[in-house]
Order: sequence, then C-alpha cells, then structure tokens
Amino acid sequence: MDERLRYTVRYAQENSPFYRKWFREKKIDPREIREHEDLLDLPLISGASIRQNQPPVTHEFMFKSAGWEDIFTIHETSGTSGIPKSFFLTWQDWMRYAEKYARIFVSQGFGTGDRVIICASYGMNVGANTMTLAARDIGMAIIPTGKCNFPTRMITSYQPTAIVGSVFKLLNVARRLKKEGYSVAESSIERLVVGGESFARESREYLAELWQKEVYNTYGSTEGTMCGECTEIEGLHVPEDLVHLDVYDPELKSFVTDGECGRAVLTTLIPVGGHCGTLLLNYDTEDTTVVLTRQPCPCGRTHMKILNPQREAETVWILETPLNRVDIERGVFQRDNMDYLTGEYEAFVYQGENDDDILLRVSMECKDPELTDRNLVSENFLKSFLTNKPRLADSYGINFDIIFNFTTPGELELYRIKGRPRRLVDRRDK
Ligand SMILES: [Zn+2]
Repeated sequence: MDERLRYTVRYAQENSPFYRKWFREKKIDPREIREHEDLLDLPLISGASIRQNQPPVTHEFMFKSAGWEDIFTIHETSGTSGIPKSFFLTWQDWMRYAEKYARIFVSQGFGTGDRVIICASYGMNVGANTMTLAARDIGMAIIPTGKCNFPTRMITSYQPTAIVGSVFKLLNVARRLKKEGYSVAESSIERLVVGGESFARESREYLAELWQKEVYNTYGSTEGTMCGECTEIEGLHVPEDLVHLDVYDPELKSFVTDGECGRAVLTTLIPVGGHCGTLLLNYDTEDTTVVLTRQPCPCGRTHMKILNPQREAETVWILETPLNRVDIERGVFQRDNMDYLTGEYEAFVYQGENDDDILLRVSMECKDPELTDRNLVSENFLKSFLTNKPRLADSYGINFDIIFNFTTPGELELYRIKGRPRRLVDRRDK
C-alpha cells in the first residue's frame, strides 16, 4: 500500500493546487513521504481547509485534482457550518466508491438476487448513488425510493430482501407498516443496513427486535471513507487498500495508538496510474473513533476494524464533560422505556439561573403520553445517563439538572425543521 501512498502524494503534487501550495508553505518535500508512518509527521487539514480553498473565498477550487474533462460529477456536503464543501468525482472515483460499498454488502451476506430498498437520499451526497452502482457488481436489484415513506406495496409487490436507511427511518417504516396491520417480522426483509449517522447500541437492538432481523452498520462519507460491519457485527472494516486511516487526539495534539479514542484522519489512496477528482491527505473528519483491531477477522477479512464513529459536531461540553447525542439516545432507548416511547427524541442545553447552573431538557415522543409511566422512563434514562457520566452525576441536583418532557407523536421541535434533524442543541449564550 505504500506504493499507492507514494503515487497519491506525487499525484497531489502534480494535480492538486491546494497540496502543491501546502507542500511548499509547510516545507514538505513530497518525495520524502514514502510510507504511512511519514504521514504522522505532517500537519492535518480539515473541512475548514476545503471551505477556505474554494469559491467564493478563492478563485479556483484548490482541492479539485483533475481536469474538467475528467470530472464526472460534483457533490456537496452540508456540514454543520452551513457552507457546503465541494467534492469532484471522476468516473474512476465512482468505481472505487462503488467497490467499497460492494465489499460491505458482500461482507453482510448480500448476493445475487437480493432486492434492496434504499431509503438514503439521492442528493448531492454520494452514498445512495454509489450504493446503487455497487449493486451492479453483486447482481442485486435496487429499489431507489430515496426516502422512508414509500408505499407498503413496495414491500408486498417486490418482496425486497433488505432496506438501507438510518435507524430512525427504519423505526419509522416499522411503525407505519404496523399501523397498516402489516407484520414487519414476517415480511420478505432478511436484513437491515443502517448508516448515515451514529447511534446507540440500544437503539440498534430495539430496531433489530422490531424487525426480528440482523441490523448491519455502514459509515460512509463523501470524502470516501465507506467502512462497514461484516456479519461478525464487531466493528467496521476499513477498506485499507483505498483509504488510509489514522486516529488523532486534538487535545494531545498527536496521533494515538490502537484502542484509544480520537478523530479519524483520512488519506486517499489512489491505485498507481489512477486519477482522482478530490484527494485528501491527513484530512481530519471531525468524527471520533477507536481502532479496535488489526488482527484477521473471523469473517476472513484482514482489514482493520474501527468503532462506529461519532460526530464531534454532535458533541456539546457540560461541566468539562463531553456529551454526545448518542449519550442521550442511549438513555431514551433503555428497553423498558420502549413500551411507551416511539424512540424519537430531542434535547436542549440551557444556562440555569446562575451562570454555573446547567439545565438539560430531554423531550421524548410517547406512543400515548397519558399511558406513559413517566417515573419509570425518567429513572431508566437517569440510571443509564449518569452511570456513563460520573462528573455529571456528582453535579446532578446541585448545579446540573435534567428535566423531562413527554410529547405526543409529531410534537417535537425537530419536525418543524427541514433537513437532518438536530437532536442535541446547545442553547446557552456563548
Ligand atoms: Zn469481518
């Protein structure tokens, strides 16, 4: 793979205006980057680097690393700052992205004859489109609904064997079908694939229970990561021949060893002789993960496995404690709560009356608020939440409080906002 790295660096020097300038300004001799370890000595770039090196900030797209005659599609990732990052894909990039998804599908037991509903959206991001292309190599049929409110006849008529979507979309489908008197457990669906966002173990377990099927995780991004769980469901395989991944701790300002948590840092690997529309070296994804193992997997694959990445953008800090959306989700999805809740939730952090006081308000959607055992739900939430956050447990009832709000279906604030729902929002004055 070091040969691919050397080729990628040379390709960057010759074709990426950004990296040409970066090598020069950082006094990096690209010829001295010979193996993966050499990347650890280089600085990182981030999403901000991309935003600051594209119109309207610069005249040209500095990250675009192929001529227009080579660019097949243009993509944008929304990000939380609201300014999209532009990505350029050549047809070769499409083939490599599709290859990564094809491998993931195969590692999850997919094969010829499978029929797959894709609820992930077909938009300016690459996921749904490249998954569709991946199906061609496997001999699967894709039903590209692009959203989760497809009619039930899609299931009864086409007898699909799998659905791809986010945890919440798939919970939503199960709920809707049940309302129509249809048993999802007895449907033609054999497996579910979730992706697009991180989730708590508890919410996946609940999804698997509702559908009575295995649920596999994928982690894809326009940057080209595409990692997936195999049938072992014990971490996500990284396609190490097409992307190199390191883990970096911004606090320590250094790369960390396997088993330690940090940000996933990516480097594209272009096969020798290949072209690439947007290549990235030492790119900080701002998603946190852990390298779980580099040992061969019982599934037969040898690529390293990582923990399901979490988005740093979905983390807020309370009393020196990081609080991720998934921490809230874990509390909501405690098994006994799910007799009363739909799983939809949102949480807001407020400043208390004194400057040091912090209030977390958690709203949970109930199947029926009147019939909900609110004490039980609150206690289950607190037990899970405070056990995982000892610093907050110490402050609980002193200068940190949680209030619970139980809503009827459709009443959460997130339903009134378009786009990706934000389930953890910091409303303190900055
Ligand atoms: Zn495996």
